[in-house]
Amino acid sequence: MAEEKKSLIKKIRSAGPMRKLMAAYFTELNEAATTGSGKIAWCTSVGPAELLRSFGFLVYFPENHGAVLGSSRLAADLIPAANAIGYSPDICSYLTSDVGSFLNKNTPLTRAFGMETVPKADILVFNTNQCRDVKDWFQFYEREWNVPCVGIDTMRGIGDITSEHLVGLIGQHKALIPILEKVSGQKFDIDRLREVVESSYKCTKGWKNVLRIAEKKPSPITFFDATIHMGPAVVLRGDDRAVQYYDTLVAELEERVTSGEGAVDGEQHRFYWEGMPVWGKLREHAEFFAGKKSCVVASTYCNSWIFEGLGAEDPFEGMARAYTELFIVRSESFKEKYLEGMVRDYDISGIIYHDAKTCPNNSNNRYGLPLRFTEKSGVPHVVINGDLNDLRLYSEEQAKTQFEALMEQIND
Ligand code: SF4
Repeated sequence: MAEEKKSLIKKIRSAGPMRKLMAAYFTELNEAATTGSGKIAWCTSVGPAELLRSFGFLVYFPENHGAVLGSSRLAADLIPAANAIGYSPDICSYLTSDVGSFLNKNTPLTRAFGMETVPKADILVFNTNQCRDVKDWFQFYEREWNVPCVGIDTMRGIGDITSEHLVGLIGQHKALIPILEKVSGQKFDIDRLREVVESSYKCTKGWKNVLRIAEKKPSPITFFDATIHMGPAVVLRGDDRAVQYYDTLVAELEERVTSGEGAVDGEQHRFYWEGMPVWGKLREHAEFFAGKKSCVVASTYCNSWIFEGLGAEDPFEGMARAYTELFIVRSESFKEKYLEGMVRDYDISGIIYHDAKTCPNNSNNRYGLPLRFTEKSGVPHVVINGDLNDLRLYSEEQAKTQFEALMEQIND
């Protein structure tokens, strides 16, 4: 019998408690949806989750479902159903795979958590800070279920965030209160909002500690690990269980640092991942880099769930600032400065840009940034073509050739 090849990916013990926490989160949502024991708000991944939680909503994030559809490699089978009702193959493949999953009545949540379907929303709440697709996505469900779809329209390509930006955004957050009161049946409570924002801020601090520990050499965590362990920061921010989870994870990673154990044995190169993960190829990528004694130590993507603005005294200003300061909302010159800081802090030897075909918003290679940045910093880069979910747009051979080309540039 052929001997099974040993994986080079090191297990993180805290993955066990994380899986339990995620299972509890989905079980609560499923119970509310099937028994009517609670109200459910859908929220975009960097939408006003704290405001929704303050009204007692259970908050569901369909982008998380999109990522699960990608990592379970179901997306390519489901996307055609969305295409058939007019959603282009060129738009966000989270949207098309999620809509296809709904139309085909096929979700990995069934196998993972016994959920027959995604939890039906009582209200859909977006923020267009990341893209327009999220609004179009939620409007699909608005038509399906005849429930309200409301949100915040954030400007894009911002350099400095000014008080003029914030005044409008704070006003848009406050304008949601009457509809949230009506759907939840609860009066707005500023003290409750303060508590939720404080909890969310603590979660952000914990998540930042997880990511920043990768500055150590060798790094105790890879980008590929982080894409898994970011789950609670995405879906449970504002819930103290997420804060506790990151305390556990940081303690484990600190143990690794103390004992000098890296996530990749013999770490030689340290890379930065710019853009979306290729969800269906996380394991292959993790194995490939570990096999080359290379660690992808940091990414824009995982850092996008650090919301330091939430520390502001006024919770509305905090939310408005936190959800506008994000990399994806900002100008090209801001992005260049941001990358400079990351390359310095993590001692990066090369950058991988993922040009995700269906997400121009998270593909930062299209307006000359990689060449400008390499010229200025001397840090080499490669661009891989692919997609977050649609593996028909990705070539494993081409990606590996690009990864190797980057390694060669560093070794030269
Ligand atoms: S940012 Fe990209 S991946 Fe995320 S919802 Fe928008 S288009 Fe899709």
